Amino acid sequence: MTKIIINGYKGRMGQALVACAPQHRGLELAAKIDVGDDLATVIGQGDVVIDFSSHTTTVAVATLCAQHGKALIIGTTGHTDTDVFEIRALGKKIPMVWASNFSTGVNTLFWLTRKAAEILGPDFDLEVVEMHHRLKKDAPSGTAKSLAEILAQVRKLHLNQAARHGRHGIVGERTPSEIGVHSIRGGDVVGDHTVIFANTGERVELTHKASSRDTFANGALRAAGWVVKQAPGIYDMQDVLGLK
Ligand code: NAD
Repeated sequence: MTKIIINGYKGRMGQALVACAPQHRGLELAAKIDVGDDLATVIGQGDVVIDFSSHTTTVAVATLCAQHGKALIIGTTGHTDTDVFEIRALGKKIPMVWASNFSTGVNTLFWLTRKAAEILGPDFDLEVVEMHHRLKKDAPSGTAKSLAEILAQVRKLHLNQAARHGRHGIVGERTPSEIGVHSIRGGDVVGDHTVIFANTGERVELTHKASSRDTFANGALRAAGWVVKQAPGIYDMQDVLGLK
């Protein structure tokens, strides 16, 4: 039995994880914590921590996991460059799955986005549009950033320079070296992502729409069962699904 600890269990994702966990054979919920609890007091009870709390606590959670030799699933998004640097260093000590999106459908979208960008080539303008519920705190979504990063890799661009986060005012004509990234917020939308490839005379759009958080929760739980068997390192959901 792989013993899991859920961090952020009172949240939208945390509740989905608690509800879905019993359906995963081989996993046992050892502890669940939220704001006001101390992970240090329960970490000895688990083999793997599943963290869907807040990006502000990921480095502290990863540090504790590394100190205790526990595996980690990072579901939080919105990390700073400094967070990313520190998490990568800690990923040399323990196995982690770090994914901006744990759904099978979105990981298929990642694969399709790379393929489409390669096939369609540089004449197509690239734009990513995402929509989430009104309570989401970070923008653009981690998934939109991953999609834009895939497009940048295929085009051999640096995303920090290529990304155009919304447009406002006299921004001038669109250049071929930009990747538009646009965030829409409202209602209770679980997560919609569209990648647009637009050329003169034709347009391809790849869209994924999540209608239940269970899709992310089940992916993260599957990753938890997988990660405890891996050597130290940082893996993503494509590794878990065998898409690489
Ligand atoms: P939420 O606000 O509903 O829940 C977060 C929970 O974490 C809350 O219960 C909160 O009290 C708790 N929390 C906050 N800070 C904490 C801390 N320091 N220690 C312990 N608990 C703490 O948010 P949500 O919609 O469940 O999303 C949580 C995170 O997961 C966000 O970063 C979101 O972007 C991300 N997310 C990722 C995926 C994915 O597939 N990777 C999918 C959905 C959401």
